[in-house]
Amino acid sequence: MAADVHENVFSEEQLLRPDVQAEDEEQFTRRVAVVTPEPPKSTCHSEPPVHSRRKRASDRAKKILFLLESKYDVLTEVCAEYEDWKEATSAADFDLLWCDTAIPADRFMKLKTFQKMNHFVGMSSITRKNNLGRNLLRMRKQFPKEYRFFPDTWILPTDMSDFKQQFTNVKKQTFIIKPDNGCQGKGIFLIRDVEKVPVDFSSTFVAQRYISKPLLLDGYKFDLRLYVLVSGCDPLRIFLHRKGLVRLASEQYVEPTKNNLSEVMVHLTNYAINKANPNFEENTNPDDAEDGHKRSWEAVQEHLRKEGHDVDTLILEIEDLIVKTLIAVQPSLSHFYHSCQPEDVYNGMCFEILGFDVMLDQKLQPWLLEVNHAPSFATESELDHQVKHEVLQDSFNLLDLNPEVRRQKKREARERMEQRSLGKKPCIEDRIAQEREFALIRNDWEDAQLQNGCSGYKRLYPSPEKEKAYWQVHDAAINIWEMMMGGTFRRAVRLSDPLEKPPVDESRVVEKAARANSAAKAAMAGEETKVEAKRTAEEIREVVERLAQGCSARPRKNTRKRGKEEEKDEAPGTSEVPGPAEQRRSHSNRYIDVQVGDLIRVQTNLGWETVTVRAKRPGTGKIDIQFKDGEYMRAVMPRILRNAEGLPVKETHELPTTALPPPWPSRSSQVGPHTAPPMAPVPVSSSGAVPQKLAGYKGGLASSPGRQGHPGLAEEPSPRETQDALAGAIMEGCGVELREQQNGLSTATGRPAGRLAPAAKAPAARLKQQLQQLISARPIVVPKVQTRSPSMPRNAPVPEPVLGHGLVGSAMKADSKIRIRSSES
Ligand code: ADP
Repeated sequence: MAADVHENVFSEEQLLRPDVQAEDEEQFTRRVAVVTPEPPKSTCHSEPPVHSRRKRASDRAKKILFLLESKYDVLTEVCAEYEDWKEATSAADFDLLWCDTAIPADRFMKLKTFQKMNHFVGMSSITRKNNLGRNLLRMRKQFPKEYRFFPDTWILPTDMSDFKQQFTNVKKQTFIIKPDNGCQGKGIFLIRDVEKVPVDFSSTFVAQRYISKPLLLDGYKFDLRLYVLVSGCDPLRIFLHRKGLVRLASEQYVEPTKNNLSEVMVHLTNYAINKANPNFEENTNPDDAEDGHKRSWEAVQEHLRKEGHDVDTLILEIEDLIVKTLIAVQPSLSHFYHSCQPEDVYNGMCFEILGFDVMLDQKLQPWLLEVNHAPSFATESELDHQVKHEVLQDSFNLLDLNPEVRRQKKREARERMEQRSLGKKPCIEDRIAQEREFALIRNDWEDAQLQNGCSGYKRLYPSPEKEKAYWQVHDAAINIWEMMMGGTFRRAVRLSDPLEKPPVDESRVVEKAARANSAAKAAMAGEETKVEAKRTAEEIREVVERLAQGCSARPRKNTRKRGKEEEKDEAPGTSEVPGPAEQRRSHSNRYIDVQVGDLIRVQTNLGWETVTVRAKRPGTGKIDIQFKDGEYMRAVMPRILRNAEGLPVKETHELPTTALPPPWPSRSSQVGPHTAPPMAPVPVSSSGAVPQKLAGYKGGLASSPGRQGHPGLAEEPSPRETQDALAGAIMEGCGVELREQQNGLSTATGRPAGRLAPAAKAPAARLKQQLQQLISARPIVVPKVQTRSPSMPRNAPVPEPVLGHGLVGSAMKADSKIRIRSSES
């Protein structure tokens, strides 16, 4: 979809508009001869004369147009200072768009490659408090030491039970509760008792361990507002400005006790809250580190140095936390960017000035509190004005906004369009090489800007050295993104030599080897390690999130080529010992053990089904299979039911190859001599209705008018019925049998219902309940039923109903019965 939209962005008409023509006069005259259509003969209104249009176009060609959707005066002031900048008069024709609020993806999709806007789509992954907490916690799970820079965080109500366990009688701790999407300290409160935990499930809160021993300035608690420019996402381009603000609380700090929890002007440092205090003093001298309740970060650094603090290390730690926070969401930023602008190779259409809120504790340890996507550019004091003006000016200077660059991009867009019309498209390798080359050129240009001393920004990322330092963290972020999204990340653009290998962290290698050894030992002793058997709360949450997003419950293995190459090159002794299951999964010998003609059982979205292997595809390991209803599927890699030795379970009865499906599925054909899980009945609603694709399961269906015969002819089920049936299907996939008494008959067998022993029934019933809760918590897409069209011959099979997306577990092809293994898709 994104590609289509982009195609429209550079229509022939747009590219031949007067401004583009004037910019590239020479080429224009050549092109005009070829493509300009005859001008319309008669128009009612009078067109401006050609020479005036030309003049306007040539004026436009020399200017940078900015479009401000902002309430801040300082922005207008900074933009007006550039001689060749001009305010845009149309909402479509501009070079720079500044908007105080987030910009939706569809607006970004419509931008041309020379246009820039001041937000990234998807930055809410760190600018919303709950997303920031979740993303950083995920990284902390893999890098506990590296991601210790933010306070312990719980998202409520999701993490309610875990959070409540933090309250012990032994030592009273303080927690700070913040509304998920709040700002300016609104709705924030402190608690020390479990009874005060908010139980309003209609809104999301973020709970954090309260930093009760902060560093103080003149006895006041304070936090830092640091300005970080992100001017690209693939690779990340991150700059930290030397100027920042120090915001002090307006009442002397005292550690939290049950009596002072509500004193916001002691515990919160927000300007919006404290300026209401009659004690609040505005800063009058930006260079004075002891003046007012808002001070300059540079002046405070000097003050801390004088007090003997190691400020250089502090700054390095702050820079590190900024890079790590952004790297955690780089894959998602890059994904949004490339999806919306697939043609852009410059990585320069978005930039964002983020406000990082950092607090220091008594040990001078920096803690990240929050990331703001729209930090205030209000200038209520001289200090505000000085800092914000410089931040904006330095940011614009680093964007390389000039008419020549615009001309070049337009030319290239035109050339690309011409190439496309000739059917030529650059291959992915060329494109990656091109993106890397542009990234290197841009780095050189930016470094030149930074070195001339006019800019207050310092580059934090990228550089070949920094890439190496953060390589593992970045790879982990990519793996997490792939696991969450069930997709493969496009190869990240890196400045380092593409053939270079990532540096190996010795401590992690040793840790990994030790884990592999103990796992191997446990496997030999025939016992499962406890660590693997027990899922942590975080893992369970991830599974639920994945299901809610319509992804597979289990994370996919990393199949990126680079990952494989890395595995191959791993030092001997450091790789994990592959278990029998992993050996079985190895690509080369995957389907060697099935032969053409074999009857095997494969996993579909309806459970295990018997199919005949019709062909093997050499090289790819894929097979062609045919279902018993005659449906034929080519080149697929279904999940095959295997026995304890890892060999496919084969059946002996040949399947009918007739095109018409038999009454489906008959109980006897499902339960073979193999160890396949018993077929579970599909739960039915009181009306006896079941979803279309599963309709054949239920004898009771026949009694329902309009539901006899092929499933495709039946009425649409209700969402509730769909959920019931889905739960049944999932349990079937899990091999769980649940028998319910239905009109005196067991729904599984049609035999008089003998209730299962409570012990056997209870877990299945619980599982069903849990699954139904899970399913009902996510949007259910009721199957679209394809009915028989009047033009179809009476005996032709009705097409299978198409199940909605995001149904169960792994992503399913809408047109396929087979649950394609995501690693292969
Ligand atoms: P908002 O977006 O509403 O400003 P913040 O997360 O920035 O919310 O928190 C507001 C203020 O609360 C901060 O400026 C800081 O003074 C205080 N604060 C926030 N989190 C903590 C914490 N974990 N420990 C101590 N103080 C905190």
